[in-house]
Amino acid sequence: MVSYKRLLVAVDFSPAAETVARRAVDVAQAYQAELHWVHVVDYLMPLGLADDFTPTPALMVDEKELLEQGRQSLQRFLAKRDRAADPQSVLPGVPRQEIVHLARELCSDLIVIGSHGRHGLARLLGSTARTVLNDAPCDVLAVRVAD
Ligand code: AMP
Repeated sequence: MVSYKRLLVAVDFSPAAETVARRAVDVAQAYQAELHWVHVVDYLMPLGLADDFTPTPALMVDEKELLEQGRQSLQRFLAKRDRAADPQSVLPGVPRQEIVHLARELCSDLIVIGSHGRHGLARLLGSTARTVLNDAPCDVLAVRVAD
């Protein structure tokens, strides 16, 4: 029988994140697995996509500051759920890529992700969940987010 031991949970702080976190904790308890939480700070993506775009000083962002805010948000999110001591990563980049990359690095055996997140419920599966399902090196639990 399959036994998951290393879960990677993707948190975007959308309303769906609560459902995703609860499901991840339930699965971890059922399998006595470790939980590793990840949040990706994806602010660079829009700038990276626009080749001829030169940011004005007002639009320039301090990467360190944004990563620090991300760390604090993740800490608060986990503290509210008594999971502050769990291992966690806050990374810059494109969420779908960083989640898959980190799962490989950590040898995760299950990625827990929301079927949808901040990008809404327009499609059956959000773009992050779809790409992670295609590219993941392990099983993926796409938690159905109520619509
Ligand atoms: P979306 O593609 O925005 O519909 O998001 C689907 C799911 O991908 C979310 O419920 C999260 O589990 C995960 N996700 C999206 N963006 C991020 C992010 N920036 N950091 C971590 N996980 C994310």
